[in-house]
Amino acid sequence: MNCGCLHTQFSSAPFSHSKGRNACLKSDLLKHGTRQGLSSLDSLKSSCTTLSRQLNSRISSGRLTYVKVLVIKCSYPQNADPPRYYSKKEKKPFPIPIVELRRAARERLKKSKTQPRGPVPPPKRGLVVQRLIPVACTVLNARITLINNLKKLLKVMPLNACKWCSEIHVGPVGHPFKSCQGPQASVRRGVHEWGEAVLEDMLVPVEAYHLYDRLGKRISHDERFSIPRIPAVVELCIQAGVDLPEYPTKRRRKPIIRIGKKEFIDADESELPDPDPEAPKPEIQVEIPDSEIVPPSNEQEMALLAERTLQAWEEMREGSKRLM
Ligand SMILES: [Zn+2]
Repeated sequence: MNCGCLHTQFSSAPFSHSKGRNACLKSDLLKHGTRQGLSSLDSLKSSCTTLSRQLNSRISSGRLTYVKVLVIKCSYPQNADPPRYYSKKEKKPFPIPIVELRRAARERLKKSKTQPRGPVPPPKRGLVVQRLIPVACTVLNARITLINNLKKLLKVMPLNACKWCSEIHVGPVGHPFKSCQGPQASVRRGVHEWGEAVLEDMLVPVEAYHLYDRLGKRISHDERFSIPRIPAVVELCIQAGVDLPEYPTKRRRKPIIRIGKKEFIDADESELPDPDPEAPKPEIQVEIPDSEIVPPSNEQEMALLAERTLQAWEEMREGSKRLM
């Protein structure tokens, strides 16, 4: 019987003792637990040392008849258990229990009934927020800069990607650590299968449906392949006010008129002056085709390019957060 684990793990350790003779053991342990409080790590360490010594002497003298499990819980944050690993088949529990969410929603509804309703925000009325149009342009340009720069960097920096999971490794050969959790990882004993990485390994494509009218009817199941899907960031920018000729979208200049809970009609915009076609349009960059990519010539240029790429990434993230 190994009781040495009590020294190091403080978690759970099975141990045995005879029923009649060692009945005092449990009370001894409890006494130790309550007397020393088990509140701090030091007190826990000292109590556990005493505890295992007592066990050794008792067990060596007595007959082993049944197994008792002792669980010592330590509230010290450093010793907290790591989060449980859930396999892909298992459903993760909600971070906040569903009952709590429902209760909070009921309370919110109760509160909102007593308070006067505020004005409806422009997106719900079918309009774009004017002050966010420049942000949307910046985000779209930052995304294109990011893609172009990453393509250039890929020409000079070796990058490996696992064929089974989302892990990537910068360097001529992939790392040897057995941390793969992709399909059939157990067959490969967690070893990654490295191959040459492409842009999509770094910038994982996330797509969204492109909607002509954002307030229009919901996309039905039958329409799922007929409606085009574009990168989600691009769609976000379009809905925030960037006009791309290849993805037309409906722009309203007057708020919609609601005639029911889910029904509405467009306001009459005939008396409004036509939009000026000569008005300056924000400049949108273009993606460089793969064949025309020019890699940085020296290390200094490469470092500068890498810095600009990171800036573009941050710009895209911050802007997207603001738009959402
Ligand atoms: Zn892998």
